[in-house]
Amino acid sequence: MTALSYLHEPGILFNLRRRFFRCLPYTYTGDIVVAVNPYRWLDLYSDELGARYARMKAGERNQLTPHVFSTSAIAYDGLSRLGRGQSILVSGESGAGKTETVKILMSHLATVARSRAARINGESGADAAAGGMVVAEGAEGDGMQSDDFTIKQGVKRLETAKVIWWTKIIESNPLLESFGNAKTVRNDNSSRFGKFTQLQCVTYLLEKSRVVGHSEGERGYHIFYQLLAAPEADKRIFGVEGRQAWEFAFVTADGLEADAIIEGKTDGERYGMTCKALDIIGVPLDERQQLFSILAGVLQLGQISFKAGKDDDSSAIEDMAMLKEPCQQLGVADPKHLDLALRYRTVRVRGEEIQTPNRPEAALGTRDAMAKAAAAKALYSHLFDWLVARINASTGAPSAAPLGPAAAAAARRSIAGAHGGRPPPRASVVGGGGAHAVPVGSIALLDIFGFESFKVNRFEQLCINYANEKLQQKFTQDIFKTVQAEYEDEGIPWSHVDFADNADLRSIHEDHPHFCRNKLGGKLEFGIKHYAGMVFYNAEGFLEKNKDSIGDDVVNLMMASSRPLVKEIFTRVATGPPPSGHHKVKSSSSSSSSNTLASKFKTSLSVLMETIKETNVQYVRCIKPNSNKSPVVEQLRCAGVIEAIRISRAARFIMLLPAAEREIMSMLAADAGAPGTPTAKDLCAQLLAQLVPKGQGGYEMGRTRVYFKFGVLEQLEQQRLAKQ
Ligand code: ADP
Ligand code: MG
Repeated sequence: MTALSYLHEPGILFNLRRRFFRCLPYTYTGDIVVAVNPYRWLDLYSDELGARYARMKAGERNQLTPHVFSTSAIAYDGLSRLGRGQSILVSGESGAGKTETVKILMSHLATVARSRAARINGESGADAAAGGMVVAEGAEGDGMQSDDFTIKQGVKRLETAKVIWWTKIIESNPLLESFGNAKTVRNDNSSRFGKFTQLQCVTYLLEKSRVVGHSEGERGYHIFYQLLAAPEADKRIFGVEGRQAWEFAFVTADGLEADAIIEGKTDGERYGMTCKALDIIGVPLDERQQLFSILAGVLQLGQISFKAGKDDDSSAIEDMAMLKEPCQQLGVADPKHLDLALRYRTVRVRGEEIQTPNRPEAALGTRDAMAKAAAAKALYSHLFDWLVARINASTGAPSAAPLGPAAAAAARRSIAGAHGGRPPPRASVVGGGGAHAVPVGSIALLDIFGFESFKVNRFEQLCINYANEKLQQKFTQDIFKTVQAEYEDEGIPWSHVDFADNADLRSIHEDHPHFCRNKLGGKLEFGIKHYAGMVFYNAEGFLEKNKDSIGDDVVNLMMASSRPLVKEIFTRVATGPPPSGHHKVKSSSSSSSSNTLASKFKTSLSVLMETIKETNVQYVRCIKPNSNKSPVVEQLRCAGVIEAIRISRAARFIMLLPAAEREIMSMLAADAGAPGTPTAKDLCAQLLAQLVPKGQGGYEMGRTRVYFKFGVLEQLEQQRLAKQ
C-alpha cells in the first residue's frame, strides 16, 4: 500500500478492491496487515504454504505474496530467536473475520512449532504432532547420559511440549465458541466476548444479556441449542427430554429451523464436538454432566412466571411445579428456597436481617423477572469463567512469559483473580525427570470487538469503544515510532510532529472539546468524539448495567447447592467464606465502586495494556467487504489505517519511492555496472534536481529511499502522464 503513488482514501480503496477480486485478501500497509474477509475458503492455508512463510527470514517479507502467515512467522521467529514476547492484535468490526484470523494464526503457529520440533527431533512433522508423547517417554533415562545428551533431550521435550500446547490451545477454540458465540444479524458465529490468548486465556466482557434473550433473527449462545439437540438419553439426565429449543423463553427464536445449521454442522453434531473438546481439556464425564445440568437449569429458570400475590405489593410464582426442574438441575434442595431468593431480598436494619419482597414498582413481577434473569446470567457467566479457567489450567504449560516485572506482577494478579485467588497453574512439562519449568516465552493473540457505533449506543458500546481507544492509542504510538525509526535509519532529519489521541478523555467534563451533548437528543444523551468519529450514547440503564450484581440471597442459595460444580462456580467469585444458612447475607461488596463492571473492565484493560507493552506488537486489521453494512472506508478509519497514513503524512516527507534503480538507469540510459559511473543514487539526485523546482523543499533523499512532500509525487506523476 505504501508503494502506491496516490496514497489517499480512494487509492487505498481501489487497491484493496482490486486485490479482493483477484482473491488476494491480504495487503500490507507498512507493517500492518489488512485482511479483507473473503467469505469463502480460498486455497491459501495449506501446510506447505505455511511452511514457506515459516522459513522466511527477517527482512524477506516482501519477497512473498502478502499473507497473514507472515505475521505469525515473524512472531514465532521473534520469540524463538530473540526471546522477546510477542503479541498480535487483531481488530475489525463484527463479522470482519477477527476470530477466523486468530484461528488461522494459531494453526500456523502450531505448524511452525511442529516443523521445528520435527527438525530437532529428527522426524517428520506429522509424527511429531501425533506422537509427541512418545518423544517424552524416550526422554526418560537412567541418569547415565552425558550433559550434551540431556540438553538435547531437554530441547526435544520442550519442542514437543510446545506442539502439545498449541494443539490444546487450538482445540479450545471451538469449545469457547460454543459457550461464547451466537448468531447475530452481522455474523452467524459472532463472538460475544473479547479474548486474549497468552499463556493464559483472559476474556473480556461476555455479553450477559444474550443468556436471557436476543433480537429477532439472532440466537442465544450456541451451547443451549447444542444441549437441546443432544441425544435423548443425555437430555433425560438434564431434565430436558423431548424438549425443543423453541419451547424455552430464554432462547426461543423465529426461523429457528433455518438456523439449525451453522457452517455446515448441525447443533447435534456440535454437541458431540463440544463433549470431545471438554474431554481433551480434561473435564471428566461427571463434571461435564453437571455443566450441562447447570445450562438446563438456566433454561428452566426462564420458564418461571409470576402472578399477583395475595396482598397488593407482593407477587407469587404462577405454578410452584415450575420450580421443581430448575431446583433439581441446580441442586437446590427445597424449591421454597428458590422461590424466596427470587421474590425477596434480605436487608439489614440495625444488625437485624429482614426479608422484604422485591417491590413491584413498575409492573407487577418485573422485579422478580429481573431477579430471575440476573440469576440466570450469573449462573452462565460464572460457568463461562470456570470454563476459561479450566482451559487455562489445561493449556497453561509450558510457558513462562518473559514479562517485565510490572506486567508480570499485574498478570499474576489478574490470573490469581481469574482463578478465584488460587495460584495459577505452574508452567511445567512432565517428563521423565518430573516437572520442569520451561521458559519459552509467549505469543499473545488478541481478538477483540472492534469499534461500535449504532443508532442507539449503550453501556456495552461505551465499554467496547473505551477498549478501542486504549488499543488505538498504543497503535498510534507504535506507528509513529516506526515512522520515526525509519527516518532515523534513512538519515533524514526528524522534526517532532504531534498526533492526536484521546488520552485526555480521562478528565471528561462539560466543556471538554471531545465531550458533547446532543441538543436534539434526550437529557440522557451525550456524545464522545472518538478517534474513529463521533458517537452519541444513551445513558439509560447505565447504572443498572454497571452494578453487575445479583442479590446475595441467590448467591447464598447457589453456594449451598448439592451440586459441587454449582457451588464451585459461585465460590470462585464470592468474597468471604461460604455461608451456613440459606438466607444469610455475608457481604454487600457489590455496592462498592471498585466492583462495578466499568471499573473491573478498566482494570483488566490496564493489565492487558501493560502486558502488551512488554511485547513486540504486530497488527492485523480485518475488513468486511459488504458495502451494505458499513462502508469499507469507515472501517479503515475505525481501524486506524487511515490514521496511520495521516500520521505518516503529518511528518515532513512521506512518500517512499521503492528502489526504482533500474528504471532510472534506463531513463538516463546510464550503465549501472561500469566503474567510475555515478551510482543510482547520484543519478536519482540529478534527476530530481531537474524535475522538482528548487526552493520548494519538495523532497528529501534518504539512504535507500526518497521522501516526497505531500503532493509532490502526484505532481511528478501528472507530468509523466502528460508526456506520454
Ligand atoms: P469476527 O470475529 O470479526 O466477528 P469471524 O471471524 O467470526 O468474524 O468471521 C465471520 C465469518 O466470515 C466466518 O464465520 C467465516 O464464514 C468468514 N471468514 C472470516 N475469515 C475468513 C477467511 N479468512 N476465509 C474465509 N472465510 C472467512
Ligand atoms: Mg469473533
